[in-house]
Amino acid sequence: MQNVVVLGGGVGGSVVANHLAKKSRRGDCKITVVDEDGKHVYQPGFLYVTLGKQNPAKLMRDERTLLKRRVDMVTSRAERIDAGERTVHLAGGKKLDYDYLVIATGSTLHPEQVPGFEGAHHFYSLEGSIGLRNALMKFNGGDVVIAVGGVPYKCPPAPAESACLLDYYFTKRGIRDKVNLKFLSPLGRVFPLESLDPLVTEVFKQKNVETTIFFNIESIDPKSKKVESLEGETVSYDLLIAIPPHSGADVVIDSGLGDRGGWIPTDRHSLLAKGHGDIYVVGDATDIPISKAGATAHYEGLVVGDNIAARLKGQSPPDNYDGKVTCFCDAGFHKGIMMTFDYENPPVPPPLNRRHYLGKMMINRLYWMLIPKARV
Ligand SMILES: Cc1cc2nc3c(=O)[nH]c(=O)nc-3n(C[C@H](O)[C@H](O)[C@H](O)COP(=O)(O)OP(=O)(O)OC[C@H]3O[C@@H](n4cnc5c(N)ncnc54)[C@H](O)[C@@H]3O)c2cc1C
Repeated sequence: MQNVVVLGGGVGGSVVANHLAKKSRRGDCKITVVDEDGKHVYQPGFLYVTLGKQNPAKLMRDERTLLKRRVDMVTSRAERIDAGERTVHLAGGKKLDYDYLVIATGSTLHPEQVPGFEGAHHFYSLEGSIGLRNALMKFNGGDVVIAVGGVPYKCPPAPAESACLLDYYFTKRGIRDKVNLKFLSPLGRVFPLESLDPLVTEVFKQKNVETTIFFNIESIDPKSKKVESLEGETVSYDLLIAIPPHSGADVVIDSGLGDRGGWIPTDRHSLLAKGHGDIYVVGDATDIPISKAGATAHYEGLVVGDNIAARLKGQSPPDNYDGKVTCFCDAGFHKGIMMTFDYENPPVPPPLNRRHYLGKMMINRLYWMLIPKARV
C-alpha cells in the first residue's frame, strides 16, 4: 500500500485528500492529512467580520469533520521535508514516510517586516479582522487608508473589495461624508488583474475612493499616523488598514524547497514541484503567477487528486491544470462581480450586478458543504 501525505488542511489540502479518497480504492493508498492546529478557516469571511456581519466562530471548523472517514488526520506541525528520503519530520520527533507528497501549506503573514506595522489594522487573519471590527465601531470620521504591503498576496481583489464594502458600511452608518477613503497600490494600477483595472478604477471614482499607485510601504509611524513609501511619498491616516507582506510556509523554506519568497517552483500544468516527480503543490504555496485564491486551490486540488489516483493504478496522469479561476467580489450595495479566467484567457470586464453579489453570498453559505469535501 502506498502512502500519500498531504501537508496542510486548508482549501487545497482538503480537496486533494477527499477527491483522492473518492477516486481511489482503500487498498490503493493510505491518505494522511497533516495540519498544525487541526482547524480549517474560511478566510473570505474575514471581510464580513470587519463589518460586524459575521460571527467569527462560524468561520472555523475542525478539519477532521471535513475529511472522509478513510483519510487519517494528524494534528502536528511539519518541520522539515526530506525529499531524498521521502520523509516528513513532524514536531516532537515523529516521522511520516510518503510515496506521494502534496504540499498545501498556504501563505504566511509577516507584519514584522514593515517597521511600525503595530500602528495598522488588517483583515488577513481572524484576530486581525476582529481587531479591525472593534476599531471601525469606534471610528466616527477621518482618513481611512487601505494599503497593500507587498506582492504577491492572497486574494488580489480583497483590498479593493474592502474599500467598496467600507464605502457601504460608512454610508449605512450615516457618516460617509465624514470619511475620506484612500487606496494605496504598490503596482502601476489600482487592480492587480490588468484587464479589470479600468472597471475598478471607474467604480472607485463613483464611490469617491482616492487612489495612489506605485506606493510600496516602507514604514509606518504610529505616533504621527503617517505611512511612508519606498518611492518617497507620505500619506497621513486616522485609521490604517495594511495588508501584511506574505511568504511561503516555514517548512518549505527550512526544507530548501522554496524560492526567495518561500514559494515552491511548480510546473503550472502538472502541478509537480520542479525537479520532483513525487511532490505535488497546490494553492498559495506554488510560485505560479496567478491569483493566490481558494478557487485556485480548489481547481488545482481536483487535478492533483485525479493524477495521483491514476498513478496509483499505474496509469498516466489524465489531467493538466489550465489555470482556471472563478471568483466573486462584493462591491457593496448588494452588487458584485464574477471573474473567470485561465492561463490563456484573461478575465473580461464583467457587469456589476445583484446576481453576482448573490453568487458570492451563496458560496459563503455553501462553502462547508461543498468545497473542502470536494463535492463540486
Ligand atoms: C480576507 C481574505 C479574503 C479572501 N477571499 C477569497 C475569495 O473571495 N475567493 C477566493 O477564492 N479566495 C479568497 N481568499 C484566499 C484564500 O482564502 C486562500 O488563497 C486559500 O485559503 C489558499 O488555500 P491553501 O490550501 O493554499 O492554504 P490555506 O487554506 O491557507 O491552508 C493552509 C493550511 O496549512 C497549514 N499549515 C501551514 N504550515 C504548516 C506546517 N508546517 N505543518 C502543518 N500544517 C501547516 C495551516 O494551518 C493551514 O490550515 C481570501 C483570503 C483572505 C485573507
